[in-house]
Amino acid sequence: MARVIAIANQKGGVGKTTTAVNLGASLAASEQRTLVIDCDPQGNTTSALGFPKDPARRTLYQSLILDEPIERIILDAQVEGLDLIPSDKNLVGAAIELVPVENREYKLKAVISGVLAKYNYILIDCAPSLDLLTVNALAASDSVMVPIQCEYLALEGVSELLDTLMRLRRTINPALAIEGILLTMYDDRTTLSKQVAADLRSFFGAQVFETVIPRNVRLAEAPSHGMPVMFYDIHSKGAESYIQLAREVIANAQKRIRQGIGSTDSGARADVAAAAAAGADSGGLPTGNPNSGSGSPGAE
Ligand code: ATP
Ligand code: MG
Repeated sequence: MARVIAIANQKGGVGKTTTAVNLGASLAASEQRTLVIDCDPQGNTTSALGFPKDPARRTLYQSLILDEPIERIILDAQVEGLDLIPSDKNLVGAAIELVPVENREYKLKAVISGVLAKYNYILIDCAPSLDLLTVNALAASDSVMVPIQCEYLALEGVSELLDTLMRLRRTINPALAIEGILLTMYDDRTTLSKQVAADLRSFFGAQVFETVIPRNVRLAEAPSHGMPVMFYDIHSKGAESYIQLAREVIANAQKRIRQGIGSTDSGARADVAAAAAAGADSGGLPTGNPNSGSGSPGAE
């Protein structure tokens, strides 16, 4: 069964899409069948994977709102082992049209339920908001990955996101874990980047991935060529860093299984139980990262 990971941060431009595209391609290159879902009306993941705007293309909208079978929406992303559910600007309407729908928070979960067995990983690229679409993404996920840009005010909005995650865990998705916090656009030549990274590590502890994504111009160029960075410049620091992130994500999943947590998705539930036992409800979040033990840092 696929491990479903939402890539979310309501702050814009922190590297969510870059992570969805390049982690997706790196997981596929590691022989993990991967589906990337573009859950953002901006459609950046769709174009970065080589699908220019096309009003005739069916997208996540048709599946969410018009109940078209998901198999008819899924595209081969032209990378072996990588598929895509595309989006376009029509998805803006979905956030509104879903409001009166019964079980509106669980529509995406229902949409992907039939393809979970086909994949090892499903990555959901979220829009920079905490609207109903993002709630659907988080309700459908086993865990959430939070990219944070290593810059001034990096933590701005993060406590709001963590509050939302806590609320969702109490109401809509008790199994939601933290896959990890990902430091992005790190520039080792600047003191500011180093300081922000050190602050984030001391704040979030082992919830932060060891892999850090450097600021790398190849990562910014690759989307305009419609391909993941590993096919644009495999030797770039950007490509290397996402390949390393994929290894870390896979190793964490294997560690969870070795630790007897069982399948990847029940791991999240075990985390919740451990966090609850530790009284972490007062501030901490469960973690999907087996390195972090029960010492979830406070969210405040
Ligand atoms: P949004 O909130 O609008 O969806 P996002 O969080 O998905 O944004 P991206 O689109 O991935 O962020 O990145 C924002 C911009 O920064 C893009 O132009 C992207 O190419 C560039 N970028 C992302 N990561 C890096 C990096 N590590 N090095 C250099 N440029 C990067
Ligand atoms: Mg984006």
